[in-house]
Amino acid sequence: MTQFILEFQTKHGIVVKWFNWFRKPKGFYPKDVKKYIVDVQVIEFTERVLREYGNKKPSCEGLIYWAGHVQNNIHYITHAIAPKTQASRYGIQTSHNSNALVVEYLCDNDLVYISQVHTHPGKWVDHSDVDNEETAFRSEGFLSVVVPLFSKNGILPWEQCGVHLYHGSEFKRLANRYLSKRFSVKKINQNKVEFKDFRYERDLV
Ligand SMILES: [Zn+2]
Repeated sequence: MTQFILEFQTKHGIVVKWFNWFRKPKGFYPKDVKKYIVDVQVIEFTERVLREYGNKKPSCEGLIYWAGHVQNNIHYITHAIAPKTQASRYGIQTSHNSNALVVEYLCDNDLVYISQVHTHPGKWVDHSDVDNEETAFRSEGFLSVVVPLFSKNGILPWEQCGVHLYHGSEFKRLANRYLSKRFSVKKINQNKVEFKDFRYERDLV
């Protein structure tokens, strides 16, 4: 916390210390050189699927995985995967079978799993205890994006979402300043962009 101490002499000769605590800069700002470029179609596919969950009666939280390639600290997010889920208004779960389908797809296509994206019902986009403890495939550098309002207003701007980095064995919410500097949405080479929808896939035996 940044702390400024102002000292001055009062008319009674008493030194009074004023502590002026500025608001702690919100969020974690890693000392790294990473960048994240998300393909514009990946954003569109993700928003569409998340809204489909939100439009269910009753509305459900939705879940998408983002994958791609990493080159010179730049994460190119070119693939969006809709896993098979059990969703409700209060949360979303995947099974071992569902996760196995995703892992098989990632391996077959030589992809790096970069981020999970899920919705919350309201504007609260911090991680719940369940998000922290039960997110599948946690590993150092993994991202988790929480999109507010069942994605009614979409993902962008990034600052309305909670973007959490798995760092030192825990999720830390990234500072908005970090998001605005390191996250961007662009059109990446069309041949590299792909979507996979496992929502209605049969389980592996
Ligand atoms: Zn959550």
